Amino acid sequence: MVQESVITAPAPGAAATAPRIGVLALQGDVREHFAALEHCGAEPVGVRRLAELESVDALVLPGGESTAISKLLEVFELLEPLRARLRAGMPAFGSCAGMILLASEVLDTRPDAQHLSGIDMTVRRNAFGRQVDSFETDLDFTGLDDPIRAVFIRAPWAERTGPGVEVLATVPSGPFAGRVVAARQGAVLATSFHPEVTGDLRVHELFVDMVRAA
Ligand code: GLN
Repeated sequence: MVQESVITAPAPGAAATAPRIGVLALQGDVREHFAALEHCGAEPVGVRRLAELESVDALVLPGGESTAISKLLEVFELLEPLRARLRAGMPAFGSCAGMILLASEVLDTRPDAQHLSGIDMTVRRNAFGRQVDSFETDLDFTGLDDPIRAVFIRAPWAERTGPGVEVLATVPSGPFAGRVVAARQGAVLATSFHPEVTGDLRVHELFVDMVRAA
């Protein structure tokens, strides 16, 4: 009995094996990413200050408004530290506005908007246009067995991806067929859509696995 309880008791420090994943908490759907990360066994941490950024293993950039987040990154003096961490290989995942921020070039944005160059790609903001401001579709996603329900809200697409970038999902049909809506370069992942709002945790699971592997 004693032996069994030793085997089944959580190992001391087991909680420490949950990766600490920051969620950039300046603007956007922070709470939804928190919940998804918690469900995937990660420890989510709100990131608004340098010390918080320095304390995390990886970072999620939420959906929201990329130009507002860009401005706040400057105000909170996180822009250069975040660029430096990405250059040093910190894993990151951006959904929608987060994808825009992770791009190396952004079209249709404000001239003073900043981006982070985490993925070698050119992203067009609000690319799907007014008539389809928001829509949902099922997408094949490389690495996932079944299609994923993708929610697009004034979403961007990637118009160019560099040679080191793996395209993970494209729009399957309709006027936007073939547009790139999910991509990965090394430990940096981006989706035009919002996996954090559907309850389907597979993209977050993929990201947590990427963080554990990094
Ligand atoms: N259109 C927004 C932007 O430019 C992104 C929308 C979203 O994150 N749902 O940042």
